[in-house]
Order: sequence, then structure tokens, then C-alpha cells
Amino acid sequence: MPDQMGEIDPTIAAMMMAALQSGHVGFCLCDETDAVRFVNDAFRAAFFPNAPQPPFDFVDALVEAIKSENGIQLQTMTLEAFAPRVRERRRNGDLRYDFAVDMYDGSWWWINDHRMLNGWTLVVASDVSRAKNEELKLRAAHDAAVRETRTDFLTGLASRRHGLERADSALSDFLMARQALSVAIVDIDHFKRINDTFGHAVGDEVLIQFAQTLTALLPPEDQVCRLGGEEFLVVMPDTHEERAQLRLHRILRSLRPLPGTSINGSVAYTFSAGIASAMTGDSLSALMRRADDALYAAKQAGRNMILTASKSASDAA
Ligand code: GH3
Ligand code: MG
Ligand code: MG
Repeated sequence: MPDQMGEIDPTIAAMMMAALQSGHVGFCLCDETDAVRFVNDAFRAAFFPNAPQPPFDFVDALVEAIKSENGIQLQTMTLEAFAPRVRERRRNGDLRYDFAVDMYDGSWWWINDHRMLNGWTLVVASDVSRAKNEELKLRAAHDAAVRETRTDFLTGLASRRHGLERADSALSDFLMARQALSVAIVDIDHFKRINDTFGHAVGDEVLIQFAQTLTALLPPEDQVCRLGGEEFLVVMPDTHEERAQLRLHRILRSLRPLPGTSINGSVAYTFSAGIASAMTGDSLSALMRRADDALYAAKQAGRNMILTASKSASDAA
């Protein structure tokens, strides 16, 4: 090394050291035993503010800092696992190693470990909190947007899109495992009349109450989504047609009117439903079409009624 150093203009070398010493980027130079031989103020302040003057052991200093809640915040690793793991990587890992750490003070640092052929390591650390916080904000916004497309705005049930995706995967499970699977399409009767009589806002209240009733009375394995308007899809894994029909009957019988306000009386309502069970080779659209046909038959037969596809088909034949 002295040979190389000899070729560097002493002024440049001095200026370089001055810049390394005082800049906002952290620098830490360790020898082949991983003892810190040079550390600048930025690095020290971030990673081990209470470390002694060099030389001192790099990993020990990190560990001491963590114990007093300074420096790196361990996410999943225990402190006991941390020291041997870091030592091992610094001794035998890649010569170049880039990674991010988050710190007790909430900041994020991007680290470049550069191990030289003589075994010395230069650690360069940059505060990337701003970029990281932007990334976290974007990710949170993205997650919220995904949640929103999965949720029906009015009722809080699964959206149509999310409900159909889940129905599709329930059908795939059925086709693989051949357990029973039934679906019901549920439609509130004469809903337009409710809107016309009591107003759209009361109609909305009915939809919200009905969604809550479905969620409360169906077993947790069943999936409910709002297909649109006053129409809902219930997917019932491991359930045969007759049991599905009984289950919805119970809900129909336990429907309570929406309590009235001072202006209008309570709002009684009913629903009709068509139920179909999955068959070998079924597609979701075929399955839902059979449920929809059964629903149509229930409406034709006077509403306030739950019909199954096999029953309504045999009646029609
Ligand atoms: P049926 O018994 O044959 O199902 O008759 P219905 O009146 O329930 O059916 P129809 O399809 O004729 O009317 C559904 C009404 O639902 C029409 C539409 O304005 C209303 N609607 C759809 N979405 C909403 C909503 O989000 N809120 C409210 N309040 N009404 C809605
Ligand atoms: Mg309706
Ligand atoms: Mg409808």
C-alpha cells in the first residue's frame, strides 16, 4: 500500500481524507481482523455513537450500539444471531455486498460493503430515508388501492371482482378435491319499490343491513360479495344444495325490518335466491348461470323464496 500511496499527490490525499472525514456519507475502514481503523463522523453517529477511538472491533461496536437502542434496528434476527452472521458474511461473503438497514431513529441507510483483496473492508453508508419513505408511501397507496378494488364501497363486502376471483378459486378447489360446493345468487325483492317509497338513502341502509345480516348468519367459511345493485353472491364450500337451501332459508326467516326513523316507518323486505351446486367439469359462468336460472324461477314463483337449480330445472322439465 505505501507504494500506491506514494503515487498520490499529498495535497489530494489530504483533501480526500478531509472530505471523507466531514461529509454526510458514512465511511468506515476495517482491517483484515475487522477492526475499525478509520471511521468518519457521519458513520459513527449513525451506527455506533458511543464507540471508542479506533481501533475497535466493528461488529462488537454495532452490537453495543444496538443494546443501547442506537444504530441498526434488528427486524427479524435476534441480537445473538446477528453478530456471528455479520462476522461470517464479512469474512467469507461476497467481496461486494449492498443492502439497506433501518435504524432506531427511523432513518434508512443504504450500505455498500467493499472488501478488498488484502482483507480490508470499506463500508460506505448513505442515508436514503427520503427515497425509502417515498417508497413506503407508494406501497401503502398501492395496498390501499388494491384493498379498495377488493371491497364494495357501500356495504364493505367483497367487491364483485374480488368475489368472482375467490369463487373461481373455490371452484378450482372443488374440481381438484371433489368436495361439495354450492353457490347462491341472492336478490332483494322489489328493491326498486323500497327506493321509490322511502328514498335512495334508505335503500342504501337496507343494503348495508342486509350485508351485515348475511355476514353475521353465514358460517365463516362462506364467502359473500356484492355482485351489484341489490344482488349478492354467496359461495359455500363443502356444502350440498339442500344444506345451502336450508342455510339461506334460515337467513330469510330471520330478516328483520330496517328500523324506521321519525319520518318513515320500518322497512320490511325479503329476498329470493337461486342455488346451484358445482359439478365435474363446471365453469364458474355455467355454475352461476344455473343459480341465476333458479333465482329467476323463484322470482317468477312469487319471490320471498329460495330455489335450487336441480329442483327448478326438474320442475321446468
Ligand atoms: P325484483 O324483485 O324482481 O328483484 O325487483 P327489484 O325492484 O328488486 O329489481 P330491479 O332490478 O327492477 O331494481 C333494482 C333497483 O336497485 C334499481 C336500482 O335503482 C336500485 N339500486 C341499484 N344499486 C343501488 C344502490 O347502490 N343503492 C340503492 N339505494 N339502490 C340501488
Ligand atoms: Mg331485486
Ligand atoms: Mg336485481
